[in-house]
Amino acid sequence: SADLATVDPEVAAAVDAELRRQQNTLEMIASENFAPLGVLEAQGSVLTNKYAEGYPGRRYYGGCEHVDVVETLAIERVKALFGAEHANVQPHSGAQANAAAMMAVLKPGDTILGLDLAHGGHLTHGMKINFSGKLYNVVAYHVDKDTGLVDMDEVAALAAEHKPKLIIAGWSAYPRQLDFAKFREIADAVEALLMVDMAHFAGLVAAGLHPSPVPHAHLVTTTTHKTLGGPRGGVVMCTKELAKKVNSAVFPGQQGGPLEHVIAAKAVSFKIAASEEFAERQRRVLEGAKILAERLSRPDCREVGVKLSSGGTDVHLVLVDLVESSLDGQQAEDRLHSVGITVNRNAVPFDPRPPMVTSGLRIGTPALATRGFDAEDFAEVADIIAIALRPDFDEATKQTLRERVDLLVKRRPLYPELG
Ligand code: PLP
Repeated sequence: SADLATVDPEVAAAVDAELRRQQNTLEMIASENFAPLGVLEAQGSVLTNKYAEGYPGRRYYGGCEHVDVVETLAIERVKALFGAEHANVQPHSGAQANAAAMMAVLKPGDTILGLDLAHGGHLTHGMKINFSGKLYNVVAYHVDKDTGLVDMDEVAALAAEHKPKLIIAGWSAYPRQLDFAKFREIADAVEALLMVDMAHFAGLVAAGLHPSPVPHAHLVTTTTHKTLGGPRGGVVMCTKELAKKVNSAVFPGQQGGPLEHVIAAKAVSFKIAASEEFAERQRRVLEGAKILAERLSRPDCREVGVKLSSGGTDVHLVLVDLVESSLDGQQAEDRLHSVGITVNRNAVPFDPRPPMVTSGLRIGTPALATRGFDAEDFAEVADIIAIALRPDFDEATKQTLRERVDLLVKRRPLYPELG
């Protein structure tokens, strides 16, 4: 059987070009990371061939003895990593994990309370044309206009008024930590269940650098490919009481055959996430975000209308607020792209510009930390970003900054084994 380059040179060329792009630019999309070779190998393995509907020991197909080993390892490792009573490692993505978790405890028409998408929530927390917005009656909470922090008084008031069945805590673009104990208190007061979507900060939780939602929430969902650094995929964790409901919501509720090659890669990434080397990397993730926040808060940034939503960060990302800058989010994203830094534009709370343009940038440090970035490297990239966002940016500045990016790229090579 022929290898990829022989059987399909067009796809092979695009894959190779993507490897070069990842190697030769600085990846600062907060939800991205670089999976280690062991994860790539497991995900590209013959396990992709296997049907395994059901769960380890209870499958609807023969020949599952080896994928049972893999899936059991993934389940046991993720339970140990986060101290969860039950885990389902089959969701194909974070969105599917959330769909299953909600299906396990809700009926269509039930009320959910989640963070507004425009204030940092995720599509699956109740956006109008997402399954969550179509199936459930959505009430949204917000961040406070002055502090940029989730307004817990509003959460409590909305919970008391609307009596949701489920409260969702978690975010895609929020630079601070949430108070899970307070969320649980509010949920208990109205007999709601609490679900925490820790997709973004799961790696920090695994490393003990962020409070764990697991002791507080009835359901905890996550992706495995963001700070966790594994393959693209999702996981649902829950209490023993909800285990059966969650399993049947994932399969047969939402999905057919599990992706055992991805589950193998998840198992590998959970093993790595329990290591001291992983914890050391997550410490650099946080250190890098603090360095970025400090640099982008200096007077030269403030003077040109570059600010930080909430004034700083406690996690792996900063949310740059460009409402008072001459650049909008799209222009700022393009500007950084032109010097070799990849970020995404992102709405800031109370954003006056439309969602396709926005007035913000979400900038994260996990991928660069995986690349080996230390404090000195992060200080350099933070300075490059600060200069790139100035109004006097011109062709000469672009060349100089691109050269500085090239030096960082060479100092911290990515996937050297792949050539
Ligand atoms: N939950 C949160 C908080 C996210 O940020 C994301 C991804 O952006 C998801 C869920 C969905 O994950 P996926 O893209 O794997 O469906």
